[in-house]
Amino acid sequence: MGRATSRPSSHRAQPDHCPAGMRGPGIPPLARAEHPQEVRNDPGRRSSVLAVGGPPEGARSEPTGFGGPEDYRALFWQALRVAHRITKQKRQAFCRRVVKGDVVTVEMRPGARDRERASFGGLFYCGRNGCPACGPKIAVERAADIALAISVWYAQGGRVAFSTWTMPHSRGQRLTELLDGLSKAYRAAGAGGNKGPKKLLAAYSAGEIVKVETTVGPTNGWHPHRHGLTFLQPGTTDAQAYELDRVRFDAFSASLQRQGFGEASEKGHDFRILSLGQAQEEIARYVAKSVGHELAAAGTKRAAGESRTPLELLIDLDRLGLEEDRRLWLEHEAAMHGRRVLRWSPGLRRRLLPEMRELSDQEAADSTDGLGRIVAAIPPETWRRVWRSKHLPIVLLDLAEQHDSDQERAQAIAHFLEAHQLGTAVSWAEAIDPHQKGNPPGVT
Ligand SMILES: [Zn+2]
Repeated sequence: MGRATSRPSSHRAQPDHCPAGMRGPGIPPLARAEHPQEVRNDPGRRSSVLAVGGPPEGARSEPTGFGGPEDYRALFWQALRVAHRITKQKRQAFCRRVVKGDVVTVEMRPGARDRERASFGGLFYCGRNGCPACGPKIAVERAADIALAISVWYAQGGRVAFSTWTMPHSRGQRLTELLDGLSKAYRAAGAGGNKGPKKLLAAYSAGEIVKVETTVGPTNGWHPHRHGLTFLQPGTTDAQAYELDRVRFDAFSASLQRQGFGEASEKGHDFRILSLGQAQEEIARYVAKSVGHELAAAGTKRAAGESRTPLELLIDLDRLGLEEDRRLWLEHEAAMHGRRVLRWSPGLRRRLLPEMRELSDQEAADSTDGLGRIVAAIPPETWRRVWRSKHLPIVLLDLAEQHDSDQERAQAIAHFLEAHQLGTAVSWAEAIDPHQKGNPPGVT
């Protein structure tokens, strides 16, 4: 790993109700920027900063706040509370509920439109992709790397193609069977698979990054699919790229047929060679989707018959209380356990980002820009009471954001906790030696 650094890594989501999430109006491309500030010691820290569209409007890496409008933050935490209640995974049940250090901190950091945003520090993060709070955080971290890799590749004269891979499915099929089938078929179409794809991939591609996504629809059940970014070698023509895709699609479809799923539909397949701008837009959309666009419609605005993401299942479960949604979310949780959501083909990352180690999901979930300025400290007993109360913990963040000075923020939080008999909070300025202000020992 290189020098200690940081990067803000989420950005403000813009309204986009496209369920597939990979289309829609452009969001400013990810751009690279240096960060001047030194950060706290963190194993996940890397040597570059990725900001969105130049000045980091709303771009920041905070573990608990995300970049979306305030409503999204509430939705994520609401979903997290539902996940706590129903999950079968211990880590998920503890996520953001268990205190990692001595205290939970409320921290302020720069946000969009010159407003400071508040977030929590000192909490345990489960680091699961399917977690309503950690999942988006992990996706944002991953997207920053992908955006950088794409820029590097175009600078080296290569191009990137975006592809979508779907399979026939029907209601009643188990998600885990479908995921296994999809992965087997994709392998057949990959560099370690059938002879045709293998040969053309070696000739025309430097590797790829593939992501698994899953939605569930009322008519046809689970719909796992893959999105790929294929890094086309410099000099590869459009005709050669499309030939590669044709051969891969045939191998993919043949494998699905052999496995008894039926042939892959052309309509469900997509392959597009992207310009650098389009490639960065795809990544920005992926981020936007991950940080909450898909939640905006959950429970209220979605048309009947539309597919839902696992996060939407949680939101709907909270609002509508349907047992079926609970069952589906748990099936997804179990089916995804131990599976990788995003994968770089061997060697690709080392070639494009040689100095940037890939973070584990846990490291990605835990990473922070280190720019938080602590305004209040909440003891663990108080934190537990806050989770047990009818209020979501983010009420404390909202309070902090409503005030202009750190002293007022700390007071507002303390008053709230006292008024609701939840315990006490300590203003950070009071709690520590003034010389160490903003750089507390042992708090991450
Ligand atoms: Zn989590």
